[in-house]
Amino acid sequence: MEKAQHILEEYFGFPSFRPGQQAVIEYVTSQKNALAIMPTGGGKSLCYQIPGLALEGTAIVVSPLISLMKDQVDALSSLGIPATYINSTLSSEEFQERMQQLRAGRYKFVYAAPERFESPTFIESIKSINLSLIAFDEAHCISQWGHDFRPSYRSIVPTLAKLPNLPVIVALTATATDEVNYDIRRLLNIEDEHVINTGFARDNLSFHIVKGSSKRDFVLDYLKERPAESGIIYTSTRKQTDTVHQLLESKGYAAAKYHAGLSEQDRKQAQNAFIQDEKTIIVATNAFGMGIDKSNVRYVIHYALPMNIESYYQEAGRAGRDGEPSDCILLFSGQDIQLQKFLIEQSLMEEDKKTKEYKKLQAMVNYCHTHSCLQTYILHYFNDYSAVDDCGKCSNCLNSDNREDMTREAQMVLSC
Ligand code: ADP
Ligand code: MG
Repeated sequence: MEKAQHILEEYFGFPSFRPGQQAVIEYVTSQKNALAIMPTGGGKSLCYQIPGLALEGTAIVVSPLISLMKDQVDALSSLGIPATYINSTLSSEEFQERMQQLRAGRYKFVYAAPERFESPTFIESIKSINLSLIAFDEAHCISQWGHDFRPSYRSIVPTLAKLPNLPVIVALTATATDEVNYDIRRLLNIEDEHVINTGFARDNLSFHIVKGSSKRDFVLDYLKERPAESGIIYTSTRKQTDTVHQLLESKGYAAAKYHAGLSEQDRKQAQNAFIQDEKTIIVATNAFGMGIDKSNVRYVIHYALPMNIESYYQEAGRAGRDGEPSDCILLFSGQDIQLQKFLIEQSLMEEDKKTKEYKKLQAMVNYCHTHSCLQTYILHYFNDYSAVDDCGKCSNCLNSDNREDMTREAQMVLSC
């Protein structure tokens, strides 16, 4: 482990490990498949980057998002670590060139989109080299019970089994319910005792539910107090993104907008403007955010109800990655439940999956109506019972005598 500590200091310039990192690194460097469950911003990347440096050979990192890969590769390259990515953005010359370098063992890290495992050239290339490890970033994508299932992730599994040089595997995620956790372990052959779960608590986040007031007025009042701070406002539809964005611009805020209906170029531009603090606010649908590592986001406002706690916590968790106090605010109105129900109803999911989605939606609605600590509610949802105290700063802790009966709509999601 001295070697790991040395790499941490020498390459990354950090004096000490974050919770859980050391344990994961220890398992992986001693060739034990491991699953790391750590909150967003918890430092999952180092859990495969340090073993990748400590072990001989090339590490393959499976990553669901192209933008995420590029950022990670740039970060490693700037530290002098040979790394590259292989995905659909490459021209065939670039692809061939990188395959050649890969086969020559030039890279310590190769980030690959899951679809690459369907390419015979790619598979033949990785078969022919010394692999240090395979990392599955955002590993919940492998499970159909995850909130972001990618069939291409799942289809890597049979390919792995055929690799003659299959190395140690490390899976990383911020969200794993019991079912997802079980799926990841089963598919990637990870023993129960090699799961490192640091708990989900994010102590610097204050959760708030706002009910009964005009959403528009709330947002304007809230922003007036903090005009220079960086924040994300999540909406549930493209149309709502446009409306809220227009409202903010009309009030003179530097706001960007992001949704899947915009061109790739517009989205990229919006994202960069936000990351580089040219725009302090981004109004977006849930198409925005995965893999965004912006540290100084001071608030995340949900203008409408998210579909489940997994999505909510992941989106809200983009606030405060730097550890500074930050707000996660959900603006609740009963009507929003109808939209989410509609989305489930219209989807092509099978009936049992729909029933599960309804249950998750119910838990999301209950969150908006609970009287107990919001942070505790979320942690319990993820089966994290490690915290003994309530957070003391969510809207329920601050308003502990605000007792309101569970409203009818809260109980009715499943029954109608
Ligand atoms: P995650 O993937 O879990 O969301 P990242 O791996 O992107 O988190 O890490 C989040 C931030 O924390 C990064 O800026 C990273 O450099 C920093 N970080 C990770 N580990 C440490 C550490 N041991 N000490 C200080 N900073 C760290
Ligand atoms: Mg990450």
